[in-house]
Amino acid sequence: MIQGVEGPKIPPLNLGLGENETQPTIGEGGRRVWIYPRETSGKKTRHRNAVAWILLLVYLGIPWIQWGETPLIQVDVFQFRLLLMGHSYYPQDIKLFLPGFLAFIVAVFLFTAKFGRAWCGWACPQTVFLQFVFSPIERWIEGRAWKRQARDAAGFSFDIVWRKIAKHVLFLSVAFLIGNTALAYFWGRDNVLWVVRQSPAANPAGFGFVLAFTLLFYWVFSYFKEQACVLICPYARFQSVLLDEHSLIVGYDSKRGETRGKGLMGSREGLGDCVDCRQCVLVCPTGIDIRKGQQLECLACTRCIDACDSIMTAWKKPAGLISYTSLSNLEGRLVTKIRKRLIVYAVLATVLAGISAFLVFTRPDVAVDVVRRGFNPYTNIGEDSVLNTFTLHVRNKDLHRREFALSFAEPFQGHHNWESRRFAVGAGQLQTLELNVVSHRNEFQFGKRDLKLDIRDGAVTREFKVVLVGPFGTGKHN
Ligand code: SF4
Ligand code: SF4
Repeated sequence: MIQGVEGPKIPPLNLGLGENETQPTIGEGGRRVWIYPRETSGKKTRHRNAVAWILLLVYLGIPWIQWGETPLIQVDVFQFRLLLMGHSYYPQDIKLFLPGFLAFIVAVFLFTAKFGRAWCGWACPQTVFLQFVFSPIERWIEGRAWKRQARDAAGFSFDIVWRKIAKHVLFLSVAFLIGNTALAYFWGRDNVLWVVRQSPAANPAGFGFVLAFTLLFYWVFSYFKEQACVLICPYARFQSVLLDEHSLIVGYDSKRGETRGKGLMGSREGLGDCVDCRQCVLVCPTGIDIRKGQQLECLACTRCIDACDSIMTAWKKPAGLISYTSLSNLEGRLVTKIRKRLIVYAVLATVLAGISAFLVFTRPDVAVDVVRRGFNPYTNIGEDSVLNTFTLHVRNKDLHRREFALSFAEPFQGHHNWESRRFAVGAGQLQTLELNVVSHRNEFQFGKRDLKLDIRDGAVTREFKVVLVGPFGTGKHN
């Protein structure tokens, strides 16, 4: 069943469901009810347009930006690393990001408790691409919503066929662009550009991924559309626990609007401000009637606000019958300006994000682990020397191969097997080495000696410690 058409021909909204609470895009027997959201204009629409174009630049631009020799950000699936602002992070570094993940979750709580679903209506890529890229293309090729609806209802014709073909060719092209950009977040822009320049036969796996991503985005934006928000988005499911009565929502002022009724200007005795024009329903991308109250399907996209404001203006009534508001505001209760919950969230998110940022950006590029090797804690060599053996794990987290030298970081009577030798570790590689330290017996105190060593490659010096053990009671310090 379809919704109404424009102007006086608008029939009452009939979803084939009656006035029950069933999801508006699901009809009898579970069939899909297609939504034809009417176009809107107004302040909120203009603001959303501006935000959307900035976000499109961000979402589509980020993976193509280089930061020195590497992408600004890339989850490098080939080398199991994250490239971020010229640094590479490996699975062992996940612990550095954990406070950041927690900060992100707390920030989601904070943002949602304060601004409701503003993310869904204003910034979610699904909304931004669907409403500000694919819908304008659809409108350009097939016309305004009421026209598209009328054409689809009229059935097969040459006019409808060429428009559908043209629209889907354009949809596929844009999906190809979005799909490749999404891949660039994981492959890097150079790999993506290389793959799309090759013939499919030369690189069937790469071509398969490009094709799969293209088809996925094409399907989501040409067919699945608002169902992604309504049926599968996990964030939407959390709303009921994240929102409270003070959270910002798109709400209908029923005190002012009811009793709704068409009536005539100047003779609306006993009627509220809602003229029951259903424009708020016709523009809604999920097909809901906000006058029924807060609903899971509401994306807070504010389209109904603009639609209703224009009706109010035409009827010479104040705007804001539908507005950004809160439940407590709608019910005329005290609006709490300072909410302890939000302060706690904000402090927690800031502290956790700060900890994570500090850990991530101060992480050394060289990691050294030392493990004692062999069955004996030490071996006597001659009268006055002791041998300690270790396995040294050196991970080079830098983007380049490095050559390292090992030296004692403090005065020490002894030597090791890497003196006057160097070893190389590839970018992101782990090198395992044997380290044999021979020390004079005098170096031990109570059978133990904490020894500092340096690993250096000219540019970077990293100090690490090994614990030497020797014969108890034989050193000069005993
Ligand atoms: S757009 Fe405004 S006046 Fe028209 S039905 Fe919706 S709430 Fe009522
Ligand atoms: S009810 Fe209004 S704000 Fe909510 S999704 Fe529909 S048009 Fe957007």
